[in-house]
Parts: sequence; C-alpha cells; structure tokens
Amino acid sequence: MTVKDDCIFCKIANHEIESNYVYEDDLVCAFRDMSPLAPTHVLIVPKQHYDSIMDDVPAEVLAAIAHAVKEIAKSEGITESGLRCVTNVGEDGGQTVKHFHVHVLGGRKLSPDMGEGFAK
Ligand code: 5GP
Ligand code: ZN
Repeated sequence: MTVKDDCIFCKIANHEIESNYVYEDDLVCAFRDMSPLAPTHVLIVPKQHYDSIMDDVPAEVLAAIAHAVKEIAKSEGITESGLRCVTNVGEDGGQTVKHFHVHVLGGRKLSPDMGEGFAK
C-alpha cells in the first residue's frame, strides 16, 4: 500500500484521521469537503496515494471512482437533478491537496462556468 506520511488525504482515506464519510469500498472512500461550495460537495479519494489524475492511476481505481459517483448521487438524492465532477491538477488547475481526488458537486443549479467556486 502506497501512502505518504505527510498527506492529509492518505490519513483520512485510511481512517488515521476520521472525517465525514459518505461512501467507502476497498479502493476509494468519499467524505464531505470541509469548505462546501454546494449542498452536496463530496471528495472521492483513492486509498493509495497518487499525486493527481496525471499519476499512474490503475484502471480499477478509476472504475471505483466512477462507481462511487453513482452511489453518492443516489444517497444524496441528486441522480435526477444532476451534478458536476471536477478534478484539479497542479498549480494552474488550482490543486491544493496533492493527493488525487474528484469533487462531486450538486444539490443546486451550478453555473455553466466550469471554474465556478474554484476560481481565485
Ligand atoms: P483542491 O483545491 O486540491 O482541488 O481541493 C482540495 C479540497 O479539499 C478543498 O475543497 C478543501 O476545502 C478540501 N480539504 C482540504 N483539507 C481538508 C480536510 O482536512 N478535510 C476535508 N473534509 N476537506 C479538506
Ligand atoms: Zn496521499
């Protein structure tokens, strides 16, 4: 298992630090963002450490993330209304936590501006 000692999302994903979890399986877990930008704002993170989607993320982990999106949409009641998935990469992408994660935003009408809430 590749985890980084100084990585907050490694700690949360492996329950070294507890968070507000909404979904978990063998490969990924999901918890509520501490600064939510929408009624549903959940972060899906792999249990193993990858710097971003640009890292060598195994296909099974990407599939687990896609499955988690659907499960979270169901449990949050936003399957019909819709949602947005965002993954930020690097400095220009606005990535602040260097552990690959996918934001799931929903529960309100999101602006067509893809950068909504993420622009500085
Ligand atoms: P990024 O900017 O890297 O795409 O997103 C990082 C997200 O993680 C931000 O939306 C931030 O609010 C959230 N975040 C950072 N640290 C923590 C934490 O310790 N717990 C939770 N629940 N969210 C965090
Ligand atoms: Zn990590």
